[in-house]
Amino acid sequence: MESAVGRKPALITLSRKSRYAVGVHVQTHIVSAAIVDFSGEVLLQESKNILYKGTPDYWTALSEYVDSLIESLDLEKARIAGIKVAIPAIFFPMAWKAVGIRDDPEGIVGVREIGAYFTYPAQVIPIAEAAGTTRIWYGAVENNTIVIELARFIDGCYIYRESLTGIRRVRTFDIGHISINKDGKRCFCGKNGCLQAYCSTSGLIDRVNGIDTTMEIVSKSRGILHWNEFIRQMEAGNQEYRALFDEYIDALAYFINNIRIAFGADIVICGDITHIIEKYKPELVRRIQALSPSWKQPEDVDAYLHTSSFAGYQASVGAALSVFDDLIEKI
Ligand SMILES: [Zn+2]
Repeated sequence: MESAVGRKPALITLSRKSRYAVGVHVQTHIVSAAIVDFSGEVLLQESKNILYKGTPDYWTALSEYVDSLIESLDLEKARIAGIKVAIPAIFFPMAWKAVGIRDDPEGIVGVREIGAYFTYPAQVIPIAEAAGTTRIWYGAVENNTIVIELARFIDGCYIYRESLTGIRRVRTFDIGHISINKDGKRCFCGKNGCLQAYCSTSGLIDRVNGIDTTMEIVSKSRGILHWNEFIRQMEAGNQEYRALFDEYIDALAYFINNIRIAFGADIVICGDITHIIEKYKPELVRRIQALSPSWKQPEDVDAYLHTSSFAGYQASVGAALSVFDDLIEKI
């Protein structure tokens, strides 16, 4: 650039094709992966059914899947900056012990050993932190924000701006185990009435499918039903499903109202059923509004409640972007 005095300043920018990063979101039955370039553009989003086992075989299969995705884009190996794996803490033995699920599980690869199974440098990142990173990279965080990942295991984080430096930070917390009803349903963590017991994607569907032992079972006779089919049947007039969905939306509305009061933050919903929440957002907004006289108009709620445009890929995209955060920090 031109300059009247001294050395001419040079503007530098990231070369988008100089580095690529991979993010993987591990869930119980499925793996969602994303590959992004250095500018943050998403080059690939893909999912594959791989049942989580946590064994060496599992991680080897996952690594091979990641390699095949990188190959499918014909990316130069030397330009892969790394891989981050977003994974629920509950998948690791230390978390199992904490909630008393199992003792001394064998053959599960520990959180620090996972990197050894991948061709490229790999690290683990909490799901909510990954989801929050996506919001920060794409500049969607004007205000402090709570991200709620509605998945089999509910995850969440608080994104806020440090008051002195203005730097945005992500703080994860155990959002799924905030109780919304002291006499409510029993959660696997041992407490009653956790958000996890009411609003996890499995909470409702497992109940319908008769495969959840912690709650009252609705039906054992039907075949395995998925969310989209559940919604389709509900919309076709299934009253039993309508009642279950009402309970789901009521619980979510109650939680969102409380969390909004506590943090005064924008709230973003992501996860596998984001498209359903998006569709029923007016209903959710009405119920939140009914809970508090301070939300006079639906727009008052609408202004702070959002659904993620990355839906089920929010965590995998964010995990990949987080690889770049680490890289940029080192420059
Ligand atoms: Zn719980």
